[in-house]
Amino acid sequence: MTIPFNDLNRSLSMIEGDLEKAFRNTLSRSRFIKGEEVRIFEQLFSEYIGVDHCIGCGNGTDAIEISLRAFGIGEGDEVIVPVNTCVPTAEAVVNAGAKPVFADVDPVFHTLTSHTAAQKITGKTRALLPVHLYGCPADMDPIMDLARENDLIVIEDCAQAHGAEYKGRKTGSIGNAAAFSFYPTKNLGALGDAGAIVSNDSLFAGKTRMIADHGQSSRDIHVLSGKNSRLDELQAAVLNVKLTRLDHWNRQRIQLAEYYFEKLEDTGLALPRQPDFALHVYHLFVTRFNHREKIIQALRDAGVQTMIHYNYLLPDLSPFSRFCNQESFPVAENLNSTILSLPFFPGMTHDEVDYVCKVIVNAL
Ligand SMILES: *Cc1c(COP(=O)(O)O)cnc(C)c1O
Repeated sequence: MTIPFNDLNRSLSMIEGDLEKAFRNTLSRSRFIKGEEVRIFEQLFSEYIGVDHCIGCGNGTDAIEISLRAFGIGEGDEVIVPVNTCVPTAEAVVNAGAKPVFADVDPVFHTLTSHTAAQKITGKTRALLPVHLYGCPADMDPIMDLARENDLIVIEDCAQAHGAEYKGRKTGSIGNAAAFSFYPTKNLGALGDAGAIVSNDSLFAGKTRMIADHGQSSRDIHVLSGKNSRLDELQAAVLNVKLTRLDHWNRQRIQLAEYYFEKLEDTGLALPRQPDFALHVYHLFVTRFNHREKIIQALRDAGVQTMIHYNYLLPDLSPFSRFCNQESFPVAENLNSTILSLPFFPGMTHDEVDYVCKVIVNAL
């Protein structure tokens, strides 16, 4: 048996007809930028998240950068980022001209906390950038309190948390703004690169829309220096089809996680946990193993693909080492030396989970 880490075909094949119809409609309208599909998606996605504004853009990295710029954050400013997130979170801060300052994370949920962030606040700190890593919401209330006390902006990185909830509210509706990626493998994914910014702040929303579109306020009126980062019609048409299935696919992810729990509960492994206050949407299923290499090898020999998210801490990478001064991140270092992401995707069968778990149990 071979089991891929992810298989997008399992979910895409369910909506092939709807996608083809969406392609044909987009082709017949022949308007590929700033058209009807984008307008509809922005409306539907803002309603889904429960915010006033959604602004489509080119990708999730740009969504973070544009948000920072729209809040006036850049040169000389510091932005606190969890040390164990993937590259784009910190890269976007650098792209905006600001300095990423890395903070350690919660030992159970892998997310930034108000305590780890508080230790990194200086006179130059302007924003907190919590990441709802693997689909698990960060504990936002204390983070928002910390931000209020220190006059900081909070931008949620929701790239892995479409549809996740914090105390009954969707992630993305809690901070001053939030950034989404619709990279194909995300819980809501396009068929290429795409992203969005959401917020309740009208002034901010208007500014992000201008920055993403060459700084234009209206045609040929360029009021600030922007960039080209627009959500295109074809990707928006795909997202409009897929958004109607997001909750269904997230429920499949949750059921699949519960099945993994059932099969692995007697092993004593550190399995993903859902905080009391949250609905976890399991973008990834990340377990921890003390002898990770042995398990990876056993799974590989049995035809099972695994991955590590992420096999680094950001300061270990050359683009970010200059932002870090011999600091240590004991919690994240410990987590990241043991994490392993198991095959996990909507449409994965119980037989496949059985097989993966049997190999793990035998190898332990
Ligand atoms: C995917 C991802 C991004 C970046 O999204 P792109 O659309 O690939 O630019 C940012 N942050 C996190 C946590 C992500 O997983």
